[in-house]
Amino acid sequence: MTIRLHKTKHKRVMIVNRGEIASRVAKACRELGHTAVGLWTDNEPNAAHLEYCDEWIHLEGKTNAETYLNVEKLIQVAKVNEIDGIHPGYGFLSENGGFAKRLDEEGIVFIGPNTEAIRVMGDKATSKALARDAGVPVVPGTAEAVPTVEGALKVANEIGYPVLLKAVAGGGGRGMRACENDDEVKKQFEAVVREAVSAFGNGDLLVEKLIVNPHHIEVQIMADKKGNVFHFFERECSIQRRHQKIIEEAPSPFIGSDEELRDRICETAVLLAKTVSYDSAGTVEFIMGEDKSFYFLEMNTRIQVEHPITEEITGVDLIICMIQSAFGEDLQIPSQDWIKKTGHAIECRICAEDPITMLPAPGTVTGFETNFPQGVRFDHCLYRGLNVTPDFDPMVGKLVAKGLVRDVAIRKMRAALEGLYIEGLKNNIPLHKVIMDDSTFAEGKYTTNYISEVAPQNKINTDINFDSIYRKLAAAEARNMGM
Ligand code: ADP
Repeated sequence: MTIRLHKTKHKRVMIVNRGEIASRVAKACRELGHTAVGLWTDNEPNAAHLEYCDEWIHLEGKTNAETYLNVEKLIQVAKVNEIDGIHPGYGFLSENGGFAKRLDEEGIVFIGPNTEAIRVMGDKATSKALARDAGVPVVPGTAEAVPTVEGALKVANEIGYPVLLKAVAGGGGRGMRACENDDEVKKQFEAVVREAVSAFGNGDLLVEKLIVNPHHIEVQIMADKKGNVFHFFERECSIQRRHQKIIEEAPSPFIGSDEELRDRICETAVLLAKTVSYDSAGTVEFIMGEDKSFYFLEMNTRIQVEHPITEEITGVDLIICMIQSAFGEDLQIPSQDWIKKTGHAIECRICAEDPITMLPAPGTVTGFETNFPQGVRFDHCLYRGLNVTPDFDPMVGKLVAKGLVRDVAIRKMRAALEGLYIEGLKNNIPLHKVIMDDSTFAEGKYTTNYISEVAPQNKINTDINFDSIYRKLAAAEARNMGM
């Protein structure tokens, strides 16, 4: 089969995001010959992503509400600047069906899926009911919101403890509480409702079975507007803190060489995507139990943070596919069988947070240097002077290492972490180093309980030799200045 690269018609693409994903999208636009239009706010006049953009627009304001979440202002800016399409990245407006709909009305292409797919998948109750009706296994429990504590107790006793109270509008690991018995449900119910109302403006809760010792395994989907839906295999994202991912790998060590299971979970994801006429990049997330039975968790109707590891093992540029699909072009993927995976890729999320408490630690970057082995990719938004405010996601970069086998990917990641110096900003590099050295991780035998059970944060060497790091930074600076 010959793949012929056709020349796409030039487009003006506005990137409604910041940080590493804005740079990533800008690079893809450039490759396609489109104009990448970047945004900057009063918070970040020197934002790193602007370097990769062809044009820059100033969005007045400091808060997210005034800028990256301001739908009407963004539409007005897009119209004045004759924008053909908007890429929302992840977070911000990426899963906001109202925004996608407004763009449709204004004749601007939303570089993401159709609004109906965003709507049905945006709510954990609706999407769960839809998955169940499509024959996709879902976590035992309700697929409808349970409005009262009495209702929650009834469901919990039917399915058996432990259970999870989960906000239907939840995201980012928030609005979730495990309960072991009736007393805990009584105690937690109102608290989760309150948290859900304040974080998501919707207090509806689901009650579902808490899967013990689970694995978070998700399948990357890419689809076009012609009805073609492909999967790009799975990622395992079980290394989490507070139900949020910090390390991801592809393929999943838990699925390992069980190709029958791999095919089954990937085909289930494709089936679900087809049910909602999916037409962009998306991820179907599952929770897998010790016995390898898996259940649908949710579908993220956007590009995900961890997409690079899939790109590394398949060689396909998912952002480029997303842009092509949105403009109604061919994905140039002849068939599912054409998509192959080779090797193993790992991503460590580099976050501005205390490596031991894992709580956000805002601050300002005063220096930054890299010295990586071959086979390492670093998607980031670091620059000297970057001020990580509590307003922004504390993730400042994604370190991705690929090897032909998992052991090599781990070795490369360990070396890459050693070669990443960030000065002035507390970060979780020391935690990642401990995990890369840990035998449970090396054996690939971890679950989402890894951080609480293995407690790698307690093995961090707090005696880090900052002296040598500063010496390296000073040497790099001297080189840059031609000294
Ligand atoms: P969010 O939208 O906040 O990311 P998810 O439903 O995707 O929420 O779940 C996030 C994480 O919470 C999962 O990766 C998993 O670790 C945990 N989790 C969610 N549902 C369950 C469940 N039923 N049993 C065990 N763990 C769960």
